[in-house]
Amino acid sequence: MSKNKGLQERTLVLIKPDAIQRGLFGAITSRFEHKGLKLVGVKMIGLDEAILREHYAHIAEKPFFSGVAKFMQSTPVIAMCWEGLDVVSTVRKITGITKAREAESGSIRGDFAMSVSCNVIHASDSIETAEKEVKRFFKEDELFGYDKSEYMHVYGEDERVL
Ligand code: ADP
Repeated sequence: MSKNKGLQERTLVLIKPDAIQRGLFGAITSRFEHKGLKLVGVKMIGLDEAILREHYAHIAEKPFFSGVAKFMQSTPVIAMCWEGLDVVSTVRKITGITKAREAESGSIRGDFAMSVSCNVIHASDSIETAEKEVKRFFKEDELFGYDKSEYMHVYGEDERVL
């Protein structure tokens, strides 16, 4: 194991309080594992006002913000950093659209949720956002680089960064 070996694109996923309450952590995480992504960081944290305001700055003026804030602080969340080729767009696709009851079947929100607010996970929406969000939730020494032996079966030789 070595820190940051074979660094590929990284993204942030939060398991939200509705998923924690409903015991969906394993089911959701297995979607990412089965896709072939590499978990490089994971921890449970309670969101304080500062991190919540920063993370949801883009919806701070929306009428539903206080409800989102209350919901996101109702239990701890589980923060995960996943790595892989084009991982940001891949994870957004696996996540599905915000309004979960209209999310595509087969996506996480499409399969596990019915609500626009309680939509089980957060996933970074662009490479630029992902870089900021991973730094927001993880210190450098909380992220791990390691060789994932299954990569030789997950990627073609030309796509592989080991
Ligand atoms: P996404 O999480 O799909 O990227 P946004 O960044 O637009 O969506 O919104 C952040 C979060 O705020 C959503 O995941 C959801 O929990 C909540 N939210 C968004 N729109 C609404 C809404 N109209 N009513 C209530 N909550 C909402």
